[in-house]
Amino acid sequence: MIAPDPDPDAAEIAGRLRAIRARIAAAATAAGRAPESVTLVAVSKTKPAAAVAAALAAGQTVFGENRVQEAAEKFPPLRAAHPDLRLHLIGGLQTNKAREAVRLADVIETLDRPRLADALEAAMERDARRPDLLIEVNTGAEPQKSGIPRADADSFIDVCKSRFGAQLRGLMCVPPHGEDPRPHFTWLAACARAHDLPVLSMGMSADFEIAIACGATWVRVGSAIFGARG
Ligand SMILES: *Cc1c(COP(=O)(O)O)cnc(C)c1O
Repeated sequence: MIAPDPDPDAAEIAGRLRAIRARIAAAATAAGRAPESVTLVAVSKTKPAAAVAAALAAGQTVFGENRVQEAAEKFPPLRAAHPDLRLHLIGGLQTNKAREAVRLADVIETLDRPRLADALEAAMERDARRPDLLIEVNTGAEPQKSGIPRADADSFIDVCKSRFGAQLRGLMCVPPHGEDPRPHFTWLAACARAHDLPVLSMGMSADFEIAIACGATWVRVGSAIFGARG
């Protein structure tokens, strides 16, 4: 284990954001794509609200959190001060957290089973709030990970499309740690294309440039911006 670095200060976060944005633009250009075709989701999980505030001050508006409870504690005050803030929930979601997730999030990236689709739909009707949705695919068939199995993806996507319409924006995956992510990214890109879904959320601090080469439209970058997590 590498020891976590001390939390970076605001100037350091701003500098890291600039560097990541430049690398995203370079990777997009190298892939023959417009830099604006890639959205940076800054993953602030485990980091204090002050770190998010520093990123907001540096012009970052899109954030990712993986726990509903943590997001609920951190984000409402920040959102009040920054109406353009967009919050993505990117962690496996328990059905009993669906309602709070719908109230909090602008995007839920981890729709991965019929019962969760039911719970989200019920919550959206009750609260008249319709966050965008991505379907997470467990491309590496890892038992401990959330995500629908590859074999079930086509039928689940079809069902969710007819149920949620354009609110279903695309697909997301987290390839197995330490494996070459390319086959996972390529598979997800082909699946999104086959279903005519515009958004592909893939790539993290260690592999976002590879993901962009494979067609990622959203990259989720945490530690390269906010420092290692303890
Ligand atoms: C934590 C997390 C990230 C960011 O990971 P880093 O390696 O810190 O960039 C991206 N996606 C998901 C789903 C995560 O849980």
